[in-house]
Amino acid sequence: MITYSSTRGGGDKLNAAKAVIKGIADDKGLFIPSEIPKLKVSLEELAGKSYQEIAKMVIGSFFDDYSEEEINYCVEHAYDSKFAVEEIAPMAKVGGSNPCYFLELYHGKTAAFKDMALSILPYLLTTAMKKEKEEAQIAILTATSGDTGKAALEGFADVPNTQIIVFFPDDGVSEVQKMQMITQEGSNTHVFAIKGNFDDAQTGVKQIFADNDFAEDLNSKGFKLSSANSINIGRLVPQVAYYVYSYAKLAEVGEIKAGEPINITVPTGNFGNILAAYYAREMGIPVNKFICASNENKVLTDFIETGKYDAKRDFHVTNSPSMDILISSNLERLLCHLSNPEETKSYMKSLDREKKYEVSENVKAELKKSFVAGFADQEKTLLSIGEVYDQNGYLMDTHTAVGYSVYKEYAEKTGDKTKTIIASTASPYKFAAAVAQGIGLDQEITDFIYIQSLADETGVPVPEGLRNLESKKIRHNDVIAASAMKEYVWNSLK
Ligand SMILES: *Cc1c(COP(=O)(O)O)cnc(C)c1O
Repeated sequence: MITYSSTRGGGDKLNAAKAVIKGIADDKGLFIPSEIPKLKVSLEELAGKSYQEIAKMVIGSFFDDYSEEEINYCVEHAYDSKFAVEEIAPMAKVGGSNPCYFLELYHGKTAAFKDMALSILPYLLTTAMKKEKEEAQIAILTATSGDTGKAALEGFADVPNTQIIVFFPDDGVSEVQKMQMITQEGSNTHVFAIKGNFDDAQTGVKQIFADNDFAEDLNSKGFKLSSANSINIGRLVPQVAYYVYSYAKLAEVGEIKAGEPINITVPTGNFGNILAAYYAREMGIPVNKFICASNENKVLTDFIETGKYDAKRDFHVTNSPSMDILISSNLERLLCHLSNPEETKSYMKSLDREKKYEVSENVKAELKKSFVAGFADQEKTLLSIGEVYDQNGYLMDTHTAVGYSVYKEYAEKTGDKTKTIIASTASPYKFAAAVAQGIGLDQEITDFIYIQSLADETGVPVPEGLRNLESKKIRHNDVIAASAMKEYVWNSLK
């Protein structure tokens, strides 16, 4: 059986169900699998399989304490008609002689890629609670840079024996993202804006998780905390499936031969999505390079280039807000895979104390073998949106545009002709104002008017969850100090 243990070496080895319930390890490390399972079928045999079939295989291989029936139940309930397209994660081939392949991960309910994992996490978690005879209610605590929050709310709303609490930075999310969250229905949903940025929210949540006395107090009320952020292994593993699926699709339609390596470009914030791509490679998907794309908060670009992680720098609020992050949580998992728990623990200690660390020569060399990195500022992001729309009629959101821009620079600089998948992480309508600006539309007052003018101009259908959003009833009004987060958690759980 695959077991899950902390990246920092402390605590027990758990089965997947227990790791999903716990969210984060006792020593504040993240759970990683004792091994990355190999694909159960050959690359040739992958071709023709549906999204659901591949998801069952991938998730079932990692979470091998779940029975086949349990995995089937989770997958079939998660990836169903709540997705706007039957393929769940379709690909768009864009460009002439040297095309790239946009893996569209945003056809779920909240129009961003977080739906890919958060549609299934509630099923994985409630199944785990049954398996482990967990009697407490699980309170999901989530910090969001905009998209996780809504996807988690949508996934957990009215799920029995769970409460979902979301903190978002008041000035750090788009108008659409904010409206999506503060209008959330469901008797177990709690949403708070905090004064501060995403890192403040994430740090606050991590501090609450680290507070053992608070955990005991909550326990006596009948609650246990868990996480829907990508620190939860139950979010990471489902994301591996779409990289396996997209490779299978490219082979199926003859864009590549089974066995041919591809590149994968991922616009990155907390490093979860790109780490899922890395796990797909470790399972057996041939990957040449992972291209890690950042916005002006380019802490990861600098890290991959120099081996020095330095979060001591100005924080930029950008037009790709879901990547406005300086402390990239899931990098810890990669470091542990490339070194060991002891070394990882020392890096994280240094990050906590000095906001920086430098990895060993060995880790630097390992990183360089697989990863390249780059960043796009806001202007380049908008130029890319305009360029791809003008040349190909394809509309990208700002995050995807960061990925495209970094990929294009990489391909031009290196001449690398490897077929490349670009993770397309949000619907362009989620960041309507910036996207409209990118394709040269007139100035409007609100994101909501932009949605209409974008739709009129491009004919791209507006995702169902974003239609009529501005007229929905506001249900969550609180704006609080980051220092008050714990108190609000306590008061939300009755
Ligand atoms: C969350 C998010 C990202 C970053 O994903 P990570 O897994 O945190 O690297 C990129 N784009 C969008 C639209 C997102 O919501």
